[in-house]
Amino acid sequence: MSAGTSKPSEDVVHLWNAAGRSEVVLICEHASPFIPDHLRHLGLAAKDRLSHAAWDPGALEVAKHLSKRLDAQLVAGAVSRLVYDCNRPPDAPDAMPTQSELIPVPGNIGLDAAAKSARVTTYYEPFHAAVRTALQTTRTPIIVTVHSFTPVFHGKSRRVEIGVLHDADTRLADALLTAAGNGPFSIQRNQPYGPEDGVTHTLKEHGLAGGHLNVMIEVRSDLIATPDQQTTMAGFLEGWLETALSNVAAARGETCSG
Ligand SMILES: [Zn+2]
Repeated sequence: MSAGTSKPSEDVVHLWNAAGRSEVVLICEHASPFIPDHLRHLGLAAKDRLSHAAWDPGALEVAKHLSKRLDAQLVAGAVSRLVYDCNRPPDAPDAMPTQSELIPVPGNIGLDAAAKSARVTTYYEPFHAAVRTALQTTRTPIIVTVHSFTPVFHGKSRRVEIGVLHDADTRLADALLTAAGNGPFSIQRNQPYGPEDGVTHTLKEHGLAGGHLNVMIEVRSDLIATPDQQTTMAGFLEGWLETALSNVAAARGETCSG
C-alpha cells in the first residue's frame, strides 16, 4: 500500500495473508527498522538504526508464523517507529520521539506542525486504514498485536519474558494469562509496559472502539532472536490463543471460530 502523499511509492504498511479466514487479525506496528531515504537516517548512527529503539526485533517473524498457523490476516508496519510510532496517536509526545531510551533522534528534533502533520498523513493514517480494512473484512474480529521488548532497558535487566497487555477490556488477556499459566515462561500482566505508558493505542482505537476482543503480546527479544526460537514461540502463542479463545467463546455460550 502506498503512502498517498508526496512519496507515493513508499510502502508504509504490509499485508500478509490478506485472504486469511481466521477471526484473529494480527497487527505488528513495530515490524520494520526501515527509514525512508528522504529522512536521511533521521541523523542516527548505523548501530542505532537497527537497535530496538527503531523496531521490535523478531516480532514480525513471530507474527508471520502465527498468521500462517491461524490463517489470519497480518497488518505490519513497514517503517521504523522512530519515523512514526503507529501505536501512538498523533498528539502523543512519543509518536515522533526526539529521544528513545538512550538514543537521541536528531531528525525528529524541532519538527514544525507541518512536518509532523505530513508524518501523520504519510505513515499513521495508511497504517490504521489498513487495520480498519482488515477488521471490516472479518466477521467477528479478534485483535492480537505482536511486539518485542529489549532484555535490558536503561541498564536494568528485565526478568519478565512475555507480557500480556490490555486496556479496559481484559477478556482476552485474562483468558490468555490463564491458558499460558503453566508454561515454561515468566508471563506477566501489563509488563514491561501497561496502559499508563500509552502503549494500548491500537487496542483502544480498534478493539475498545469496536467492542472487539483484543490483546497485546510483548515477547522479550532474546527469546525470538533466531528462526528456531521464532517458530517455537509462535507455536506456544498459537496454543495459548486457541485455548484462550475457546474459553472466551465457551463463556459466551458460542462455538469458537477464531
Ligand atoms: Zn512494539
